[in-house]
Amino acid sequence: MMHFDVLTLFPEMFTAVTGSILGKARDKGILEFNFVNIRDFSNDKHNKADDYSFGGGPGMVMMADPIFGAMESVDAANKKVIYMSPRGRIIDKAKLDELSQEESLVILCGHYEGVDQRALDYWNVEELSIGDYILTGGELPAMVLMDSLARLIPGVLASEEGALEESIYSGLLEFPQYTKPRSYRGLEVPEVLLNGNHKLIHLWRFEESLKLTKELRPDLFDEYVKNHGDLSKDEQKVMEKVRGML
Ligand code: SAM
Repeated sequence: MMHFDVLTLFPEMFTAVTGSILGKARDKGILEFNFVNIRDFSNDKHNKADDYSFGGGPGMVMMADPIFGAMESVDAANKKVIYMSPRGRIIDKAKLDELSQEESLVILCGHYEGVDQRALDYWNVEELSIGDYILTGGELPAMVLMDSLARLIPGVLASEEGALEESIYSGLLEFPQYTKPRSYRGLEVPEVLLNGNHKLIHLWRFEESLKLTKELRPDLFDEYVKNHGDLSKDEQKVMEKVRGML
């Protein structure tokens, strides 16, 4: 079970993710979501949650006080707190594996020019980014984090195996997939997938994964070659062929 407290100025945006797999996991009691509108903790009569930046400069900064109120309302002092931020470490598999061990996460979404630094320092946040580009707010990054994390929580996916077989998690990029019809506008499904020979299908998929990874992610390919001593003889042959050794 994992509990998410999401502190945001735009809680309504999160209906985009709570309808699908995450919503089903919530219904099963595997995930819990608590969306907190930071504006509800503003002490200003117009519910203001941002103001000008001391020192000048364009844009507004989210004020510390409403964030403190929102943090206190979710008992953030006793939880792991994340601030979605382009300054943070970029989320990857290792970080997700680590966070998936938490029972509860508080996720703070910034907006405008960002957040008063005192709110970040006081609540001892870990800053996490989804990539080297700037979004308007932390809501989409928070959804990326929640969706990718949820897939690692036991019971969220129909088959837990599924998560480990996906690109990156298996150490390789995924092989091409096909579905009905067998022939579409003259484009055919590879014959090997239609013959029911599971060993041949496995080796074909393994070879395609290796070729794609070598071409598109040579860094992952090199890692895989180094760390996979546990291949069967047939897999080893496929690997050597792709490495150009045969
Ligand atoms: N002025 C900030 C800076 O230069 O670092 C950027 C502010 S950005 C326009 C507004 C908010 O969007 C940030 O406070 C953060 O919560 C979120 N955000 C933007 N880009 C992000 C990214 N790549 N990863 C995670 N959060 C991001």
